[in-house]
Formats: sequence, C-alpha cells, structure tokens
Amino acid sequence: MSKRTLIVGNWKMNPATLEEARTIIRKVRYVATELSHTDVVMCPPFVFISAWSTRTDSPHAYLGVQSASPYVEEGPHTGEVGVHMLRDMEVQYVIAGHSEERARGTTDVEVSHRVAAIVHEGLTAIVCVGEHIRDEGGAYLDMLKEQIKNSLVDVPAKSSKNVVIAYEPIWAIGAQQAMNPEQIYEMVLFVKKVFADLFGQDVAMKMKVLYGGSVNAENAVDIIKIGKADGLLVGRESVHVEGFTELLKAVDTISEK
Ligand code: PEP
Repeated sequence: MSKRTLIVGNWKMNPATLEEARTIIRKVRYVATELSHTDVVMCPPFVFISAWSTRTDSPHAYLGVQSASPYVEEGPHTGEVGVHMLRDMEVQYVIAGHSEERARGTTDVEVSHRVAAIVHEGLTAIVCVGEHIRDEGGAYLDMLKEQIKNSLVDVPAKSSKNVVIAYEPIWAIGAQQAMNPEQIYEMVLFVKKVFADLFGQDVAMKMKVLYGGSVNAENAVDIIKIGKADGLLVGRESVHVEGFTELLKAVDTISEK
C-alpha cells in the first residue's frame, strides 16, 4: 500500500487578517475533500486557530501550528503555548526547529525538548532540518546527520512514528528555485538512513520525509515523482490559495510513487 502524500502549509506570519485566514482555510478544506491520495496540514499563526471551525467535517485536512512550548505542564511560562492546550484546539501537527526559528537562536537541544513534548502528547512533530550551504567535500552531510540526531535525542523509540522530517536546505527557502529533484532524491534517502540508524529500518521505511524550499504548483509533481519525497513543506505559496489548491490537485494525480 503506498503512503499518502503529506502537504504542509507553513503560513509563517501571514495573512494580515482573521478574515483572510478564514478564506484560506475554507477554500483549502473544500479542495481537500476531493483528494484521494493526499493529506493537507495548514499551520496558521496561533491567533488564527479559531478560523478552524470544528463544526466543519473536512476529510484529509488537518490543523497544525508553527511552534509549541517544550514545557508539558501548565504553569509560570509567560508567552508559551502548551502542546496539551493545542491538542484541545484540534491541532494534530506541530512544526519544530524551522530554520527561521533556529536563526533566532533556538538550539538543537531546545528543538529536541519541544519534539519530545509534541510526541509525548500524541501529536505529530514536523522537524525541520537543512544545511546553510553545500560544500564540495560533503561536510554538510555530517552537519545534517548531527542536526537530525541532536534534534531527536529526547524522542523515545516508541514515539518515533510521530516524527516527520522536513528536509529544507536553507539556501532554497524563499528563493527563486527549488533544489533539483535528483538531488532531493539523494537527500530523502540520506535522511531515511540517519533515521534508520536511530530508530531501526522498519520505522525508517514507514516514516515521511518532506522537502521544503520554494515549492509551487509547477515543481511539486517532479519533487514527489522524481525526488521521491513523501510530501512537501510549502511556505510562501501556502497562503496564495489558488496556487496552493492547484498544487494539491496536481500532487494528488500521482497515485503511485
Ligand atoms: C518554509 O518556510 O518552510 C518554506 C519552505 O518557505 P518557501 O516555500 O517560501 O521557500
């Protein structure tokens, strides 16, 4: 049985208003009802979670967020949002360690604590990893391996099924072009090998590796077909509802990978 393709929309700090957020959610959910092989996760900023009305039945569409507190118990943690609170709001996916967050100083250790809190609560962590630059000697592969291992160090083996890795080369985020699909294929295999070393071959076979970095409706199919990514993490394009829904429909035409 082939895995369902997972498309995650990272809205970042967009859109400007609750009304716009409602429109994106409504339109994406509508298209999601017609998807046969694809699941879609929308990750709005916390303040727009309320746009996700729990009354609407939307198969294949899920709510995610862009971060969460590493603290598992409620308490004196000003500015933090606990994973248990998010679960109560129907959130099922949480992004952890996005490069924009790491650039603000978040370390692998902090990412690892956050991932542990997410999986502890039974939610799925979308753990972002990726190199700044590529060097001829391949040192970036060692860096990536360390980043994956360190970001998952607190995850117990039994919870590893609740981890999705989003491979996002930083030089391809917010860029003109995505990485080419042949290179993506190599990186998907590399990430699965590191995951297998950590949690075993069986888990690695079932895990999902997403690609992120300048994905749009034009390049998405090749990234899945040739790059063999199990899904995509989409930034800018995820709040352009026409482009994003076109991307979803295009990806859903790929039934066999
Ligand atoms: C991202 O922010 O995770 C991302 C991939 O951004 P973009 O699609 O805009 O490159």
